[in-house]
Amino acid sequence: MTTANLLEFDLEGLAAFCEKLGEKRFRATQLFRWIHQRGASDFAQMTDLAKSLREKLATTARVEALPVVTQHESKDGTIKWLFDVGDGNAVEAVFIPEDDRGTLCVSSQAGCAVGCRFCSTGHQGFSRNLSTGEIVAQLWFAEHFLRKHLKRDERVISNVVMMGMGEPLQNYTALVPALRTMLDDNAYGLSRRRVTVSTSGVVPMIDRLGADCPVAMAVSLHAPNDALRDDLVPLNRKYPIAELLEACKRYLAHAPRDFITFEYCMLDGVNDQPEHARQLVELVRAHGVSCKFNLIPFNPFPASGLLRSPQPQVLAFAKALSEAGLVTTVRKTRGDDIDAACGQLAGDVKDRTRAAERMAQRRVSERTVVLHPVRKTTPQEH
Ligand code: SAH
Ligand code: SF4
Repeated sequence: MTTANLLEFDLEGLAAFCEKLGEKRFRATQLFRWIHQRGASDFAQMTDLAKSLREKLATTARVEALPVVTQHESKDGTIKWLFDVGDGNAVEAVFIPEDDRGTLCVSSQAGCAVGCRFCSTGHQGFSRNLSTGEIVAQLWFAEHFLRKHLKRDERVISNVVMMGMGEPLQNYTALVPALRTMLDDNAYGLSRRRVTVSTSGVVPMIDRLGADCPVAMAVSLHAPNDALRDDLVPLNRKYPIAELLEACKRYLAHAPRDFITFEYCMLDGVNDQPEHARQLVELVRAHGVSCKFNLIPFNPFPASGLLRSPQPQVLAFAKALSEAGLVTTVRKTRGDDIDAACGQLAGDVKDRTRAAERMAQRRVSERTVVLHPVRKTTPQEH
């Protein structure tokens, strides 16, 4: 008999499951806590549940994580896991510790159908959506592994970013219960401000997320006009920039933060010129979107035919934005030998393993530089 993997359920789903077993709904809360707060997977361990329920669960349910293909730990504590999701597919999750927080970067799909030019996941194509349980399993495993590993009783992961492989808003049905589990006080209890969905701009789903489960929002903008964005992010042909920015504005009415983060991957000679910075400033002003910019140095891979913008170019771009009053951060990489990035995993599991190792190295070397906005300064002319 196939059993239900309880990682697939948010609290509401688990309550419905318990009812089917003829149990009171509040039993689901106890069970949910055992699974997510204590990391339990063995029902026999859940001693405050009636023995009859434990026996029913033993024959109908399971708590099953994803098999770990590799784990890579760097000197500064960054840990990266590659999880096997079957049929030769693997997805990544990365834990990034900082002084005041612990962030887990989580995947939503094996591959991605959007096909951005600068993203190796995009080049790899789409394999399949992850289920809610496969998304939650990354957090469940990482949180409880880290507590043991770091010998900590309290929560280790304080922030989740949906910035691993895949386009989360093209896997909406699985995403929302996963987000709800992250937010639930009986599970991980993360604040809405500390859970970020990153999207290439699936406009209708931005609206739905605002209504169903508002969390912090990052939008991968990458270009200041439609001609360029059509080329870099093919989804733009369906949902052009003006529609995307209007959706961002609508989202802000529900969002837990009062700004949208715009991610902007810096591509040499493509989107990193002074005129692009000027267009960006005009664009966000015209739409009146409250936002912050995060400039990401491109991590090149041969099939892209694209190059990383030189650092002075990135800094000049950041300066232009910040002088126009836009808060801008630059994700800085140390060491030019490191050539892997978010969403850069491709090929079979073996290739991905190597990509995973390179990626962990790169992440270790990442530091963020914040450029404070200088108000009352006009955008730089050139
Ligand atoms: N699909 C979602 C989330 C996953 S990608 C999205 O596109 O927002 C997470 C981030 O990694 C995105 O901002 C994406 O633009 C960035 N990224 C992808 N490939 C990259 C590369 N080669 N170098 C630098 N950043 C990259
Ligand atoms: Fe998909 Fe995001 Fe990569 Fe674009 S950048 S292909 S949306 S994972």
